[in-house]
Amino acid sequence: GSGDHYTFIVLGASGDLAKKKIYPTLWSIYQQDKFPPNTAIVGFARSKMNQKQLIEKVEPFLKVTEEQKATAMKFYGINSYVAGEGYGDLSSYKLLDDEILKHEKGANGHRVFYLALPPSVFKEVTLAIKASCWSRTGYNRVIVEKPFGHDLESSDALSKHLGSLFTEQEIYRIDHYLGKEMVQNLMILRFANQIFTPIWNRNNIASVMITFKEPFGTMGRGGYFDDFGIIRDIMQNHLLQIFCLVAMEKPPTKHANHIRDEKVKVLECTKTLGIEDVVIGQYLANPDGKTEDSKTGYLEDATIKNKNSNTPTYACAALRINNERWDGVPFFLKCGKALNERKMEVRVQFRDVPGDIFEGKLKRNELVIRVQPNEAVYCKMMSKEPGISFEPHETELDLTYHVKYKDVKLPDAYERLILDVFEGNQLNFVRADELREAWRVFTPLLHAIEAKGVKPFTYTYGDRGLKEADDFVASFGHMYTGTYSWAKPAHH
Ligand code: NAP
Ligand code: NAP
Repeated sequence: GSGDHYTFIVLGASGDLAKKKIYPTLWSIYQQDKFPPNTAIVGFARSKMNQKQLIEKVEPFLKVTEEQKATAMKFYGINSYVAGEGYGDLSSYKLLDDEILKHEKGANGHRVFYLALPPSVFKEVTLAIKASCWSRTGYNRVIVEKPFGHDLESSDALSKHLGSLFTEQEIYRIDHYLGKEMVQNLMILRFANQIFTPIWNRNNIASVMITFKEPFGTMGRGGYFDDFGIIRDIMQNHLLQIFCLVAMEKPPTKHANHIRDEKVKVLECTKTLGIEDVVIGQYLANPDGKTEDSKTGYLEDATIKNKNSNTPTYACAALRINNERWDGVPFFLKCGKALNERKMEVRVQFRDVPGDIFEGKLKRNELVIRVQPNEAVYCKMMSKEPGISFEPHETELDLTYHVKYKDVKLPDAYERLILDVFEGNQLNFVRADELREAWRVFTPLLHAIEAKGVKPFTYTYGDRGLKEADDFVASFGHMYTGTYSWAKPAHH
């Protein structure tokens, strides 16, 4: 109603995430007129700036076109900035609260706080906003960015701290992969199609592979990455979230907590990983590389201090789910930097057709959900070779998004998620108990890699992957034939 006012508060407004992601997203939402009426944005950090300087800093990332200039001026008008003395300094938060109140003007004040800050200051910032900036006339919601701890113990400590200040309904742990179109589509594909629902189990599915690949290395900024590694950076959060959506049971309704209950349950059935369940790798320079990044091996990145670092830049893990649906079916989570391509996909491989009458010519069906780039769902299948012959050949049923939905612009993940926060929809945010189970699955493995100094296999920058990982997945019966070829359909 008109008696409501909304404030989006960016804590750490001077930072990298703020300028590259948060402000561009807020601008995009504003442009499409999707904010609730009476929304203001307040940035907060220690950097001495005024509103004008903040705008100058973020403007290059907003990509404002000539026609949008007038709208952009209005957008700048709903922005303000408060410079604090320090993240523990309560009087600075008093200034922030005054700034927010200036806009609220006696309305019901709803506040969304985005913690775009290094985790080292999470504690003091959350204490301070609760003490000095908490609205008493509207809702308060806090968006928390990864990393959510470093292992089970540190994550539990963070959860305990957040839980002492906020209710779970007030906490929005962001995993932006949950904001992606095809990740959100997983639930619909699975639970809205009778062709999939009855076969989604160990009787028909041989393996599931969830893959993330990126074609660049640390780009000379490996210092941060080296403390985490690819398992923490990609696998334990993004890939595991997708894993949950592929493997969970059907929730009673599509209500956020029903869905999150099912995600927790399937994680509870998932065996804790050990060293034997994973193949890890680290990339070497490509002497023929064309870029600085590709000519620099992981350990040659000047920002990595430990020149014996065994931090994985590639990992392939086999997860096991001990329940009636999935007993015996390996779920491979595979991710790596400095590979041959950028790709994220889910590949569901079906079992061989029993009682083959085609002399061993059949290839396994695969349902592939490509999350990025070029969103698509395709199902590799056998069909009659067209013409006189009566031979089976490999082809596909293909739903390529940019062909089928030509003029649809898919919103950015952050955009959906920020709007979800305004609406109070926690479906695509990670609940504390989910997070705890995720760390339970991965912590012993991470500790073992670190404590035992497990040496990663090496690969060359630009490789498709690790031979050792291919052998590893083959040892579970996952099949790669190399016979499938896809021809881009001709368009008319
Ligand atoms: P950042 O630029 O390093 O930090 C944001 C702001 O925090 C800085 O502008 C600085 O502001 C303040 N700050 C930095 N280091 C500090 C320190 N040691 N003590 C006190 N204040 C400090 O970080 P970011 O890249 O924006 O990331 C913010 C959060 O998002 C982090 O939790 C990060 O892990 C997460 N994240 C980032 C990205 C990304 O693309 N950047 C992606 C995913 C998640 P003042 O000096 O002005 O106070
Ligand atoms: P594919 O090439 O038969 O299979 C690729 C899978 O096999 C990936 O899991 C890959 O792993 C793995 N692999 C590749 N080489 C291997 C090797 N030497 N040993 C062991 N494993 C290996 O089929 P596809 O990827 O589904 O399709 C082929 C191409 O057609 C892809 O580029 C796909 O995007 C394209 N296509 C596009 C559409 C569409 O846009 N609608 C539809 C169908 C196909 P990694 O992931 O680790 O590399």
